[in-house]
Amino acid sequence: MAKIEVNVDALLHNVQQLRKLKESNSDKTELMAVIKANAYGHGCTRIAAFLDHKVDYFAVSRLDEAVKLKKEGIKTPILILDGFFSMEEIPQLIEYKIETVIHHESQIKWLQKWQQKHFDSPLIKIWVKVDTGMHRLGFDPEQVPFVFETLNKLPCVAKPLNLISHFANSDQPENELNLKQIELFNQVVKSLPENEIGKKSLAASGGIFGLPNAHFDVIRAGIVLYGIAPFAEKTGKDLGLRAVMTLKSNIISIKKIKKGELIGYGSIWKSTENTQIAVVAMGYGDGYPRDIAQGTEVLLNGRLVPIVGRISMDMLVIDLGQQNIDKIGDEVIFWGEVLPIEKTAENSNFSAYEVVTRLTGRLSIDYVYDNKE
Ligand SMILES: *Cc1c(COP(=O)(O)O)cnc(C)c1O
Repeated sequence: MAKIEVNVDALLHNVQQLRKLKESNSDKTELMAVIKANAYGHGCTRIAAFLDHKVDYFAVSRLDEAVKLKKEGIKTPILILDGFFSMEEIPQLIEYKIETVIHHESQIKWLQKWQQKHFDSPLIKIWVKVDTGMHRLGFDPEQVPFVFETLNKLPCVAKPLNLISHFANSDQPENELNLKQIELFNQVVKSLPENEIGKKSLAASGGIFGLPNAHFDVIRAGIVLYGIAPFAEKTGKDLGLRAVMTLKSNIISIKKIKKGELIGYGSIWKSTENTQIAVVAMGYGDGYPRDIAQGTEVLLNGRLVPIVGRISMDMLVIDLGQQNIDKIGDEVIFWGEVLPIEKTAENSNFSAYEVVTRLTGRLSIDYVYDNKE
């Protein structure tokens, strides 16, 4: 059946590599594992359980993602990268001890209002987000001293406040905006009393591998945790990482096709010789990219075989060639350790980030180890 396999040993290898990398930089640097969007399609709850206590933080985007993990008993601190979205979310932040980003005045107002009604509120751990050039979330650098001053007046706010920012172009380490962002981040740090700043975090995957002087106190590893490169024309393997996910399914039909016959919806592929085609139970209903290039290769019985014809919702077709010993039920691998997902991404209109997050709930996820037999 169409399924995802997640190799836990590969995941742990990547965590180790990330730890090594940061230790060569500064042994104080901590590792935040970004497991938003269902851990980039790898299954958030299970990934968190495997990494609990093995990383210093988890990061998700939204409160409900964090609450779910806390309810599952995850003990590692969890940060919500997009912050809380309303005053109604504050009680859950407190109840589940979830750390939050604050990126907008409205969030400060909600906290002030909350504080007025709850004199004895427990502490909330906060990461103040500064916009150093991405211009998505965050306070302008010159606003930050006032934000710190305002938040530091609130008894419900844990001190010291932490500082966080995000690169716009760290997938291109040579892009000059990166240096400007690092410089601005350093300026913001200098504009604040040293004892008022807790931890500082700037680098996600691109910065972790491409901008070592941007590591600061906490590196935030998303895509690289899963063994996928954040850079174009590189694979995770090039960075010393192992692909964590394998996407696979099985052949459900094999048939002979004569030269010149048309295959599938839209009849976009015509056989150039007599051949045999196999139908595999995998389609865009599983999240496989419908726009994948003709001829994209999959792995079958130790050889590479091309996809032909349009991807359907539940099926796709591969060209086995005339001479083959393939059978119904044989396993087809779409990506994994020997067939980099970065290649599939290149052959579609999606980035590798999208290819993994588009996978649908129809796929089951099996968690396996290196010596699974
Ligand atoms: C998603 C995200 C990350 C992780 O990004 P990767 O490129 O996958 O490492 C880090 N920080 C923030 C703020 C994010 O939104």
